[in-house]
Amino acid sequence: MSDARARKVAVVGGGIAGLAAAYELTKQAREQDLQLTVDLFESRDRLGGVILTEREGDYVLDAGPDAMLTLKPAALELCRELGLADEIIPTRDEDRGVALYSRGKLRSLPYGTGSSWMRKISAYMSSGVVSWASKLRMAGDLLLPRGVPRDDESMSDFFGRRLGREAVERIIDPLIAGIYSGDPDQLSIYSTFPRFPQMVAKNRSLLLTMLKAPQSSSSGGRTLPVFCSLRDGLDRLVDAIGQRLDSDRVFLSTDVTAVRKAEGGYALSTSQGPRDGYTDVVLSVPAWAAARQLADEFGPVTDAMESIRYVSSGAVFFAYRRSDVGERLRGYGFLVPDCEGRRINGATWISNKFDHRSPPDGFLVRCYIGGDRTAAELELDDEAIIAMCRVELREIAGITAEPIFARVYRWKRSNPQYDVGHAERSRWIDAVLAQHPGLHVTGSGFRGIGLPDCIKDGRDTARRLIG
Ligand SMILES: Cc1cc2nc3c(=O)[nH]c(=O)nc-3n(C[C@H](O)[C@H](O)[C@H](O)COP(=O)(O)OP(=O)(O)OC[C@H]3O[C@@H](n4cnc5c(N)ncnc54)[C@H](O)[C@@H]3O)c2cc1C
Repeated sequence: MSDARARKVAVVGGGIAGLAAAYELTKQAREQDLQLTVDLFESRDRLGGVILTEREGDYVLDAGPDAMLTLKPAALELCRELGLADEIIPTRDEDRGVALYSRGKLRSLPYGTGSSWMRKISAYMSSGVVSWASKLRMAGDLLLPRGVPRDDESMSDFFGRRLGREAVERIIDPLIAGIYSGDPDQLSIYSTFPRFPQMVAKNRSLLLTMLKAPQSSSSGGRTLPVFCSLRDGLDRLVDAIGQRLDSDRVFLSTDVTAVRKAEGGYALSTSQGPRDGYTDVVLSVPAWAAARQLADEFGPVTDAMESIRYVSSGAVFFAYRRSDVGERLRGYGFLVPDCEGRRINGATWISNKFDHRSPPDGFLVRCYIGGDRTAAELELDDEAIIAMCRVELREIAGITAEPIFARVYRWKRSNPQYDVGHAERSRWIDAVLAQHPGLHVTGSGFRGIGLPDCIKDGRDTARRLIG
């Protein structure tokens, strides 16, 4: 053994961040011949957190995340490491495209490679999403100076300054809702899309920066589109990690209620009784859950964690006969700006976006609800949610067909909101936790919400812990 001191690590939370941390710890222990054991605690009766794939005949329903961003390599790298390279599927090329619902109708936006900047700009300008006054205001971005760098500001302030208020309401708001289920008036530009202020500081024009943004990436010797998934659903990633952990040390249906300092490290209170002797603890639960676990002994840091705002979101799936809808539905789906006052935030034509999600004669659709703007809809019962979504799909996209089946999934307090000040708050939390050697936090509440961010942060946390 190369390590003089045996380490016993508790990873609390079996979502993708906790799984990535536990996987990396196990891997490093094996590779470096360390005397290190890893216990993984998860309150649900399954691993994966918000990653949940359900199958209904030949339909594959990714009810939480359904796509991995390829521009950040951590997720695909992990898939390859786990032997899933052959299962990585790109978005379908044939149906590229996304629409915005604006002024009572769906309007296509330019998407993907192949068009020159000028063609993309003219496509935006002719899409009818914003008024001519707004188009002129947006064009002003080409002339505006870089501006003075700020400590932090909301997305609305940043994009509004560059592109005008109407562009924020009709373009930025729905795009942001699609990713964060959030409100651009509150979300921090520096904690969500730091690249944009950085690029403006460098290139001056936001518009040109956005239009130049890559629409594909090169990874593992393949050119991939911006998003990929796994052929049989994203829970393949969860299963593949789970298989590499010691099953005797994975404790499902075990709610960790408190973390306390103890002789030589930390002790946990859990719904299955006390557990002690941990040299290190990695909390990979939502920030509000970590705050509760630390509340007894770690004082003000828990207030900072508790103040990280979360919203709830929902996914509503409809399976249709392809002959009823398939010909009419082009592109990957649509997004809805808040100012349109609709009851859904958007919908994805899943069968257009990815292969292997429905049988050849079927067509899968997913509606998005919840977040800051359609929170009340999430409180309805399943039947009412399904009826409401069907009305929205009919009025927005003309879908009148009877679905073969419908499913509703609710994700309560699962979407962290990186409001203005988040980065500073996170740094402060890290600084306080640094005073408690062996205690770490990771997961979507802190340093990035996307799957690649959570995987990278989970693995980085494990590497830091090992030192
Ligand atoms: C509906 C939805 C769609 C999304 N779509 C995408 C997408 O397409 N692409 C993308 O990249 N990202 C997407 N995201 C974001 C991404 O999926 C998440 O940020 C990420 O999966 C969160 O992982 P996590 O491990 O940090 O948290 P979680 O998945 O929330 O895992 C935390 C785990 O901790 C457990 N836990 C909580 N309290 C306790 C306790 N007291 N004791 C023990 N265990 C506890 C929970 O049960 C859970 O399993 C989406 C998120 C949501 C909610």
